[in-house]
Formats: sequence, structure tokens, C-alpha cells
Amino acid sequence: MSKKNKAFEAVCPCGSRQPLEACCGRWLAGEPAPTAQALMRSRYVAYVLKNDQYVLDTWAAETRPHTLFEPDEPRPKWLSLTVLESREEGDEGFVHFIARGRTSQGAFKLEEKSQFRRENGTVGFMSKVTLSDAFG
Ligand SMILES: [Zn+2]
Repeated sequence: MSKKNKAFEAVCPCGSRQPLEACCGRWLAGEPAPTAQALMRSRYVAYVLKNDQYVLDTWAAETRPHTLFEPDEPRPKWLSLTVLESREEGDEGFVHFIARGRTSQGAFKLEEKSQFRRENGTVGFMSKVTLSDAFG
């Protein structure tokens, strides 16, 4: 592919500066994400792209909610993702990150530690600890 064409490819919203197709797009298309961080990034991208099904599909069955948003619930506009730390220990993994977004009430910053677990070769989201969730 020529450089010229590459400039027109969508950049992945996860902040990797890679084309979406070569980054989180692969996991969104159905390939299993290989690591907790890869899954976490692709789940963030799914929120950006309003792909609720992917977020739910990658949620461990025992903690999965019924739905992400109520039909008339306003959704934030997601602006950026920063991964501060990620670790894998055996079948467990966690990712510490900051996501920034905007709602009708203003810009907000969400800092979270998400836990993941590998089961049958597939990484799934388990739970999260919200460290801060603030406007400004
Ligand atoms: Zn990505």
C-alpha cells in the first residue's frame, strides 16, 4: 500500500497512532484479543464507535450487565485514552488507564483499574475499580 493511501486510513481511537484496521479493528472484527491491554483498548474503541455488543461480548459472563446504556441515556463523547500501566500474571491481567470524554455537563476524566481473566484462550473483562471520575 502506498503512503498516500495510508493517510486516508482511519487512525485507531485508542491512541496507538496505528490504523484502526491494524490495531483494535482486528479484535473488533472477531479475532480474540491476545492480552488484557489489547482487549481493554479495543473495548474503549468499541465505546467510541458505540459498538455495545462488543463491550458486552468481551465481558465475563458472571459480571456482565444486561445493557450498557438505557435507550434514552446520554452517551459521553470519548476523547482520549491513556494506558498508565498494564500487567499479566498467568491468566489474570489488569490495566490502569485514564479515559477522557465530554458530556453535556463538560469534560471529564475517568481513572480506572480494570481486571481481566483468560478463559479457554480468550481474554475477558472481569471488573473495575474506579479511582477517580471527575469533571474538569
Ligand atoms: Zn487501537
